[in-house]
Amino acid sequence: MMEMVEDPRWALVVARDASADGAFVYSVATTGVYCRPACAARTPARRNVRFHPDPAAAEQAGFRPCKRCCPDQPPLAERHAALVAAACRRIEQAEEALSLGELADGAGLSPHHFHRLFRSITGLTPKGYGDAHRANRVRDALAAGAGVTEALYDAGYGSSGRFYAAADATLGMLPSAYRAGGATVRIRFGIGSSSLGRVLAAASERGICAILIGDDDDILAEDLHRRFPQADVTAADPDFAVVLDQVIAMVETPAQGLSLPLDIRGTAFQQRVWQALRAIPAGQTMSYAELANRIGQPEAVRAVAGACAANRIAVAIPCHRVLRSDGAVSGYRWGVERKRALLAREAG
Ligand SMILES: [Zn+2]
Repeated sequence: MMEMVEDPRWALVVARDASADGAFVYSVATTGVYCRPACAARTPARRNVRFHPDPAAAEQAGFRPCKRCCPDQPPLAERHAALVAAACRRIEQAEEALSLGELADGAGLSPHHFHRLFRSITGLTPKGYGDAHRANRVRDALAAGAGVTEALYDAGYGSSGRFYAAADATLGMLPSAYRAGGATVRIRFGIGSSSLGRVLAAASERGICAILIGDDDDILAEDLHRRFPQADVTAADPDFAVVLDQVIAMVETPAQGLSLPLDIRGTAFQQRVWQALRAIPAGQTMSYAELANRIGQPEAVRAVAGACAANRIAVAIPCHRVLRSDGAVSGYRWGVERKRALLAREAG
């Protein structure tokens, strides 16, 4: 009798290994359906199971998708990310804050499930995300030189009274104090690996407040403390891994952007420069002089370069897209080699 070597995919099915999702599907001869490796349905008898490289191959062989694990749909993680991204866009576009029920309905999930999913992917609650987004809009408008009232209405606050009532929750302080750069903040951070080296991501309650790149974790953490001397800085809990993963994915593929809100702190001038940087698309570059023109202060080239150098949110505020007027790749806080690598990545 010939001895058969068991297909390694069977062990993944038995273990319901979700990491195998997308690598193959299996069909069950007795039921005529095919499933994802991690389908929650009862594990079929081995003799009835065949493996297929993808859903199309299983359907070609005459099987239909399981109604439970929907193997003909994109992987669950992708669908969840898409649901949460759509919810983020709804929150951003809403005139008034949306309730948890409204958001959950839109995603086709129960409020409880939606809330958990949203938090696990963004690191923020839906309400926290909405507050951070509106606060960012107020800050952006203030930094761009808008009057306080105009900034508030633009950001969807129906009256300045309502904003001031909410200001402590959204900005952590009143706008005038915010502009003065005061107040203690709580900052969580995590460090992970990327193709450009170690990446530190830090978030306040309002969003990502720092992305630093380097070679040494201790030096990165010291740099963070130095940049936020008055903040209460702590290493993050394991939940933060989801945020860190998104930041690292953005460092690897800057063109995809970052769907997390940014907590941008700086002088009004710095904020105008940083907003102008965020308007430079991936794959394009600009000189410091052009950037100075863009913010309406063509004489302020040196100050613009200073604001670029003071950027503490690497890649998401793409100061690497600014070159010297002769086109040379000049200084970069996180190393000229990394700047070259980012530009090469975006050009390709
Ligand atoms: Zn199934």
